Amino acid sequence: MNSREEIEHYKQKIKEIAGRENIIPGIHNYCDRWCERCAFVSRCTVGISESETESPDLDMKNKEFWEHLSLVFQATYEMIAEEAQETGIDLNTETTEYVQPVQRKSAAGKLAEKYGFRLLPWLKANHDLFVQKIESLLPANEQQIVSFEDAIEVIRWYSLFIAVKIHRATLPALGFDNDEIDLYDKNGSAKIALIGVSRSLEAFALLYNQLPEQEDEILGFLADLSRIQKLLKKAFPQALDFKRPGFDD
Ligand code: SF4
Repeated sequence: MNSREEIEHYKQKIKEIAGRENIIPGIHNYCDRWCERCAFVSRCTVGISESETESPDLDMKNKEFWEHLSLVFQATYEMIAEEAQETGIDLNTETTEYVQPVQRKSAAGKLAEKYGFRLLPWLKANHDLFVQKIESLLPANEQQIVSFEDAIEVIRWYSLFIAVKIHRATLPALGFDNDEIDLYDKNGSAKIALIGVSRSLEAFALLYNQLPEQEDEILGFLADLSRIQKLLKKAFPQALDFKRPGFDD
């Protein structure tokens, strides 16, 4: 297949997936993008696309990977442009106006960013300690090993995710014409950020018991997470009532 045929192939595939009976519309907007651990892969257009699209190894240096990704993005962009045109919006219209978006970071956003950028080097620096810990739990405590490894994975997964979602929740305006839609999106983004915070808190609580030699650092991360949680709940008091499509139905 040449590039054009591949783009058309992806467009057809995306349309076919979106038209399936059991799809939950919009489920991917307020999830944590952890598809490997998601119970809704078969009902999510993103999850299905990723599992059913033939994709070369996710090697960032792999030329084939980037070419493939570029085709998928192009197919997706063309579909959005076609839909926009049907509703009277021409995405190719030239504009001379450019309004610089104003983004002032919220206190929760700044703290979440600081937390994520402190956490990643800590995880890297303590890799050997984690391996030693797992070895010390062998062979009898299989369940404990699983919990320990899961806790590390959870913390790593949400390390920067929380800041990204807070950033989205605190954007000054998302360009929607309707304030209600805007608020809906902010609450949804704040809710998934809060979910990431609580899961990270729980995971750190487990590590606190397992890694006494890292007590001070872990307490520091727990304190950051608790503060982010408080700030977010204060800024988005309705976030926890938000019903995430699929997950909270
Ligand atoms: S809803 Fe589940 S399958 Fe879909 S993008 Fe999110 S984590 Fe992945």
